[in-house]
Amino acid sequence: MTEGRIIKAVSGFYDVKHEDEIYRCRGRGLFRKKNITPLVGDFVEFDKSTQGEGFILSVKPRKNALTRPSVANIDQAIIVTSAVQPDFNPLLLDRFLVLIESKDIHPVIFMTKQDLLSEQDHEKWLNRQYMYEAIGYPVERVSAAHGKDSIQRLEKYFKDRVSVISGQSGVGKSSLLNVLNPSLDLQTNAISTSLGRGKHTTRHVALVEAGGGLVADTPGFSALDLSGIDAGDLGDCFPEIREHLIGCKFRSCYHYKEPGCAVKQAVENGEITEQRYAHYIRFLDEINSRKPRY
Ligand code: GDP
Ligand code: ZN
Repeated sequence: MTEGRIIKAVSGFYDVKHEDEIYRCRGRGLFRKKNITPLVGDFVEFDKSTQGEGFILSVKPRKNALTRPSVANIDQAIIVTSAVQPDFNPLLLDRFLVLIESKDIHPVIFMTKQDLLSEQDHEKWLNRQYMYEAIGYPVERVSAAHGKDSIQRLEKYFKDRVSVISGQSGVGKSSLLNVLNPSLDLQTNAISTSLGRGKHTTRHVALVEAGGGLVADTPGFSALDLSGIDAGDLGDCFPEIREHLIGCKFRSCYHYKEPGCAVKQAVENGEITEQRYAHYIRFLDEINSRKPRY
C-alpha cells in the first residue's frame, strides 16, 4: 500500500501523485461502500497494479473542503484584487474573506495591476494594505506586467502548499500563474469560470504546479452567497471582531443593537474600522434575509 495525493479527477479515474510519479487510479474497497467520493486534494492509500495504474483503497480525513470547485485539504486561498480594471471593491474583498474564513482556510490578499496606478493613488493603496495587514492578513501589492522578478517574492506563499485562487474575472489571476509557471500557458483576458479556459468547456478541477506548490486551476469560491453561514458564526469570520466577542454582555450577541456589546465599543474606539463593521452588518442582514445581494 502506498500513500499519495489526488491531483486530478476525470470521469471515474483519479490521478494520484506519489513522490514524482502519477498513477491513474480507480476507487475500490470500503470507502466506496461508505459513500465517500474522493476529491482532488485528498490524501489516499492506494495499491499499485500495473505500470502507472492502481486502486484507491481509502481516503484520509480532510482538514477542509470546497464544493465549487471540489478541492480538499486547501492550505490557503489567495484573493486577487486589482487596482483598476476592474476597480477595487472592498465589499467584494470582504465577502471573499468571510467565505474563506467560514471554511477554515487561511486567506492571503494580492493586490494586482499596481503598475497602472498614478503617484497619488499609491498612498491610498498603501493605506488599504496597512488596513488589511492590521487585521492580520498577509497582503502583497504586485504587477504581473513586470514579470518574474517582481513576482518572485510571491513564491514563498505557494511553496509546498495547496492554494486556491479567488477573485473577480479580469483581476489578473491567470496572468499571475503564467508568470509563476509559464508552461501552464493559461489564456488571459478570458470571460470564464475556469482559469484561462473557455466558458463552455466543462472540466474537472486539477491541481497544477506553480511557485513550488500546487494550485487549483479553477478559481475558488465561485458561489459568493453567504447563505451557508449561520448568523451567529459571522462574527468569527472577521478576525478583529472575533478578538472582541468574549467581552460582549450576551453570549448570543449579534453586535448589532444589543447593549453591552464589546464589538460596537471597539468600533467606537477605532480598533475595528467603520467600513469593516458596516460590511459585517450588511452580511448579517443578508444572511438573515437569506437573499444573496451582490
Ligand atoms: P483573470 O480573469 O483574473 O484570470 O485575469 P487575466 O489574468 O486574464 O487578466 C485580465 C487582463 O488584465 C489581461 O489583459 C492581462 O494582461 C491584464 N493584467 C493582468 N495583470 C496585470 C498587471 O499586473 N498589470 C497590467 N497592466 N495588466 C495586467
Ligand atoms: Zn457584541
